[in-house]
Amino acid sequence: MPTAEQRTDGLERPAVSGGRATMRGHVLVRPGHIELRELPLPRAGADGVVIRVRAALTCGTDVKTFVRGHPIFPTPTLFGHEFAGDVVEVGPQVRGIREGEAVMAAPTAPCGTCYYCTREQENLCAQVTEEFVVGAFAEYVRLPAPVVRTNLFRKPAALPYVEAALLEPLACVLHGLSHVRLRPDDTVVLVGAGPIALLHLLVLRTRGIGRVVVVARTPGRAVQARALGAEVVPTAVAAAREPILALTEGRGADLVIECTGEPTVWEAAPGLARRGGQVELFGGCPVGTGVRFDTARLHYDQVAITSPFHFTPRDVRAAYDLLASGTFGGEVLVSDVLPLERLEEALARHRSGQGAKYAILPTAA
Ligand SMILES: [Zn+2]
Ligand SMILES: [Zn+2]
Repeated sequence: MPTAEQRTDGLERPAVSGGRATMRGHVLVRPGHIELRELPLPRAGADGVVIRVRAALTCGTDVKTFVRGHPIFPTPTLFGHEFAGDVVEVGPQVRGIREGEAVMAAPTAPCGTCYYCTREQENLCAQVTEEFVVGAFAEYVRLPAPVVRTNLFRKPAALPYVEAALLEPLACVLHGLSHVRLRPDDTVVLVGAGPIALLHLLVLRTRGIGRVVVVARTPGRAVQARALGAEVVPTAVAAAREPILALTEGRGADLVIECTGEPTVWEAAPGLARRGGQVELFGGCPVGTGVRFDTARLHYDQVAITSPFHFTPRDVRAAYDLLASGTFGGEVLVSDVLPLERLEEALARHRSGQGAKYAILPTAA
């Protein structure tokens, strides 16, 4: 075990794992092109933590970044941001976490002191997008001080690594739901049946929402939504209004949650809500795109629209509590488990709508 003095000189200290100075990790060289490379082993530095990645999940954001690039992740870049693993190195200034502990973390954390942070809008803190942990599709990843301080948790022994890696998307879902009112007798419509819609479905189940209807145009995903207890309207959103009205005595849904990030779906979503209903536009669309809404729906029909982004530390804590409860059942969203070499296949399968999310296990147990 290195001494604290040795840790502070960072780069010159012997490698953390079996004398190795490098690790295998995926680099997104440019959109559409990833390479598995030997990379320098990340170092904790004074105030960070390095973890050995035991599970990293594919996410719609990874797929978007791989296919078309992403403004927050300019290429070339490491990628992968949903993960759980074991602590292998702890900076000397870090308190409360030790080498060898199994952990789960969100990939961002706010500064805690800016205008937004002091108004409980930490999701809008500039640090959230400036210091985003990417690189979970690798053997090791470094967590910077803000993440270590705010959004790093010990993983309960009974919680599988692949389920613990849901911490970040689950925090996003809980953040979104914190912006709407829910009653057990509500009819909630989820537009889309990808992993984010299915994650909403699991959360709505924990809130006692009896009736969830999923609008799914991909047959494979419709099967999974139905297996998780939803009614399914197997159509594109443009044709969903009549079936939704038929299911709700002509009213429309109490809450519509858009889970696709497509402007055409954003535009159609208010048409599925009842008078006085709510619409949560969850999926981020490409920057610069625009939408049109009928003003009468927003004003005379009093349909409330919200579009919450990212999460706050309270959402991460709530996501942790839900996963740690042991009853959430998030593992059903992990359709297959693949080694690091097969990341491209995992992204392709995620994108095609076969199954939901895929787990990459970069290091063997
Ligand atoms: Zn994600
Ligand atoms: Zn801040």
